[in-house]
Amino acid sequence: MVILKDNILIGILGGGQLAMMMVEMSAKLKHIEFIVVDPSDSPPASKVANCIKSEFDNKEVLDKLINECSMVTIDFENVPAETLKYLEKKIPVYPGSYAVSICQDRLKEKNLFNKSNVPTTPYEKVDSLEQLENAVNIIGRDSILKSRTLGYDGKNQQFIGENKLDEIWNISGRKSSILEKKVNFKTEVSLIGINTHDGEKIFYPLVENFHNNGILNYSIAPYKNETLQKKAESFYINISNSLNYVGVLVIEFFIDSNDNLIANEMAPRVHNSGHWTNEGANINQFEAHISAISGKKVNEIKLSENSAMINILSKMPKNILSYDKSIKVYDYGKKERMNRKIGHLSFISKDRKTLLKKVESIKKIIF
Ligand code: ADP
Ligand code: MG
Repeated sequence: MVILKDNILIGILGGGQLAMMMVEMSAKLKHIEFIVVDPSDSPPASKVANCIKSEFDNKEVLDKLINECSMVTIDFENVPAETLKYLEKKIPVYPGSYAVSICQDRLKEKNLFNKSNVPTTPYEKVDSLEQLENAVNIIGRDSILKSRTLGYDGKNQQFIGENKLDEIWNISGRKSSILEKKVNFKTEVSLIGINTHDGEKIFYPLVENFHNNGILNYSIAPYKNETLQKKAESFYINISNSLNYVGVLVIEFFIDSNDNLIANEMAPRVHNSGHWTNEGANINQFEAHISAISGKKVNEIKLSENSAMINILSKMPKNILSYDKSIKVYDYGKKERMNRKIGHLSFISKDRKTLLKKVESIKKIIF
């Protein structure tokens, strides 16, 4: 258990919108300050916290964090595990290098799901064209080749279908990969959970996620299904216990036509599918994460309304504020680029039908 001293300084590795919101949304927590490390010029979090421009393996900067911070967290799972290992010899790092190293690698992640008795789609390890051919013989052509590392927003994934395997292998960059069977899913959900130092797990209700081309477009919460909620929570507990996890961990699931939950991947951090919690829950995921890692009490999660979160991709729409004053607009201040997440919209409604109607009309403006 961490004893909260006066004014603790938390180091955040990665200065994207998640770090920015960790700082902003936990502002009401007393005695906590932040310092952010990011290799880019003016990352989103630099607007709200002191930011050191540096690669994540700069020993001088890591030693500064060791000397000045009470603990370190991440906004980005691809921080080198070596960096986390170096830091955690001297100061607490949440989540730790072991958990992060599993989440960085789709093969290790899926192996861990299975070891924890959590179902996944069938998958095979692929390190060569020959192994890809073997894997396709086992799994079939309705399958996806995914690089083991550095995939996000549907990047580094190739659908096999009728394509020639040598061509797919070349297009994929011949990276260490897995081939996984495509899931004919009914929908996708994620479970956002908070893991305290005492081993307590506090859950948000499942949130339903809608992707296009592998990129999250929008999320609706709650996804009300008591049976699936309980099942997802029991899967989650198995996984987060085996990772010795502290802080917010998010697991993405497919739901198939027979209402089976199939784990897809997890994120060792706050998550895009949890942004609705800023408006829609008594405790938002950012504050929850910072509270949990710093040893503050995290109360039970309560929602009084339905929530929608819609990502703003590529380009900031000019007219969105005048559209409806009840919509909260987040602008991450990032340069516009095709399919880049540059902001999001969030709104709540007591009535689910009204909420869904509003989502449909905004989708027409945004996408
Ligand atoms: P990432 O989010 O890291 O890019 P994911 O594995 O979550 O990678 O893939 C992104 C999206 O692509 C998923 O949310 C889902 O919509 C789709 N997808 C990925 N894997 C499968 C699969 N095996 N079957 C069906 N759809 C998939
Ligand atoms: Mg995903």
